[in-house]
Amino acid sequence: MSVILDGKSLSQKIREEIKREVESFTNRGFRAPSLAVILVGEDPASKVYVNNKRKACESVGIKSLFYHLPEDTEEEKLLGLIYELNNNDEVDGILVQLPLPKHIDQTKVILSINPEKDVDGFHPENMGKLVGQIEEGFIPCTPLGIDILLKHYGIEVQGKDVVIVGAGFIVGRPLSLLMLWRNATITVCHIYTKDLKKHTLQADILISATGVPHLIKEDMVKEGAVVIDVGISKVEGKIVGDVDFERVKEKASAITPVPGGVGPMTVTALLLNTLKAYKRRFSHLISTIKP
Ligand code: NAD
Repeated sequence: MSVILDGKSLSQKIREEIKREVESFTNRGFRAPSLAVILVGEDPASKVYVNNKRKACESVGIKSLFYHLPEDTEEEKLLGLIYELNNNDEVDGILVQLPLPKHIDQTKVILSINPEKDVDGFHPENMGKLVGQIEEGFIPCTPLGIDILLKHYGIEVQGKDVVIVGAGFIVGRPLSLLMLWRNATITVCHIYTKDLKKHTLQADILISATGVPHLIKEDMVKEGAVVIDVGISKVEGKIVGDVDFERVKEKASAITPVPGGVGPMTVTALLLNTLKAYKRRFSHLISTIKP
């Protein structure tokens, strides 16, 4: 029987701390931190994610500014909005919900965001800081949330064999860099990996981020491994992860549930990144005022 890594309750705890910290600034007369959230189109999953993020912001006192643009919005119009938000002193963070409609060049959009407001951490400047282990950059939210979860449960990463299944731009790739930063030995698997099971069986910490429901079966997991499930899929109206949770939990020493594991930690990491962006913008003033 394994320990359930409860991202939901850890998130609540961290969010209470964020709320207190935000209040400590607003009580001293500073404006509240603010996050601009841009959604283009009507993708139902994206709408749910955006809604969760906005609600989480409000719950800790971060102001969320919502820009919902129609599906056929021209790329130039979106870039114009980002330009305005980059130059708006009242805005600390900018989040463009991905994926974008096909006619919009996602790379161009990511490049257009001011790296100092890039709380998703997808701009190459922030990805570069992750490579360079430079603390002041923004680490993408899902990898950061997983890192915080592992730390909270006292799961040592240094020297461990960490196997990541999924090499996506949002999760797998930046997570591999972060785990390398934490001195783990990393294997990254993907759709072209020849013998997936051979790799997953080596994992002290197995992290799956593919979006393939129940890809990870119990015979692919080493006895006592820590299993982190990032995947979110809908099967017969139910949210399921990449891991066959019911069977794998009997073998793992610790495991995240879906939902209630990595998902809430991702949103909490977004709040932390927004607070970080805010504090950096106000740092010259904050340091001159006594708490
Ligand atoms: P992506 O499409 O960018 O990447 C998927 C990766 O999985 C690719 O590298 C692909 O090669 C690999 N893959 C696909 N099928 C595979 C297979 N059969 N065997 C091995 N590798 C395979 O996706 P993403 O944006 O990284 O998201 C991955 C999953 O994580 C999705 O389910 C997404 O919804 C979920 N997600 C969850 C959170 C969260 O907060 N919990 C955040 C972001 C993404």
